[in-house]
Amino acid sequence: MNERYSRQILFPGIGKGGQEKLLNSRVLVVGCGALGASHSEMLSRAGVGHLKIVDRDFVEYTNLQRQTLFKESDASERLPKAIAAKMRIGEINSDVEVDAIVADVNRSNVEQLIADVDLVLDGTDNFQIRYLLNDACIKLGKTWIYGAAVSSYGTTMTIIPGETPCLRCIFEDMPDAGSSPTCDTAGVIMPIIATVSAVQVSEAIKLLVGARDELHGSLMQFDVWANDWRKIKASNPNPECPACGRHVYDFLDAETQEFAAALCGRDAVQVSPSTSTSIDLKSFSERVAHLSDVKQNEYLVRFKSGEKEITVFRDGRAIVKGTDDVAVARSLYARYVGS
Ligand SMILES: [Zn+2]
Repeated sequence: MNERYSRQILFPGIGKGGQEKLLNSRVLVVGCGALGASHSEMLSRAGVGHLKIVDRDFVEYTNLQRQTLFKESDASERLPKAIAAKMRIGEINSDVEVDAIVADVNRSNVEQLIADVDLVLDGTDNFQIRYLLNDACIKLGKTWIYGAAVSSYGTTMTIIPGETPCLRCIFEDMPDAGSSPTCDTAGVIMPIIATVSAVQVSEAIKLLVGARDELHGSLMQFDVWANDWRKIKASNPNPECPACGRHVYDFLDAETQEFAAALCGRDAVQVSPSTSTSIDLKSFSERVAHLSDVKQNEYLVRFKSGEKEITVFRDGRAIVKGTDDVAVARSLYARYVGS
């Protein structure tokens, strides 16, 4: 084992045996925004051998204040976050195998994404995906580490199916859209990202090296501005919980799939193709060449239609910026991409 990990091996909680386990571990990071970028960086530096990073979005200048893996050129090139993360991790620790997936996590792919990993880290920014992740992880018996941060406060909980309460044991119903503050409405400062992600990654490392007795076993809440740190001891799983008690997976089994959804607080809507598809970006960019501000890279094509900015990914998804009206976004999608 190279000297890169010597300080971590000296740490008695990890040691040589723990390091071997990290090198052989597979972790999925869902969402590579502020939390996910931080998880990815810490895990790759720690030598977690295989990282799967899935994110649906591209890097913007407003991300750079807190999303540590990204740089100005990523934003100006509009690189997808998963790709930019993979490139940066290649410079940090080239031994880590990174699987970068530019996709929306939804019920059609979530089980496949988590099936072959040891652990799932929540780097998402919305409850829709978290409840779906909770269902899928309970169903497949995968441990996942919930984390959320906005403004100066944040929260985290480690969810081990059958052993600890799950997300639905604690919050049975998903908060209504628009009812909670988001980073785009309330802002966010980087120290809370660093705090929440540090606790999440500490838990991940404990789990991967087998130090289960050291897990915090609680719902942790922090406010780095108001100086309030709480640790609410987790009880046992609720036998009446729809997900982990009764094994009814409401979010995974939902009849309808949302094909268009407003991205909370972002003044943007994501539109997905109705069937799985792949777009030839080169010929697509030629089709829209007459529009303004057309920019293409290997992963996406971006252009403007009036005040709206439309970014089309290879998997047929589009993010329409400048509106939170799903109908407006869908009609622009139909006009330029197809139905
Ligand atoms: Zn539960």
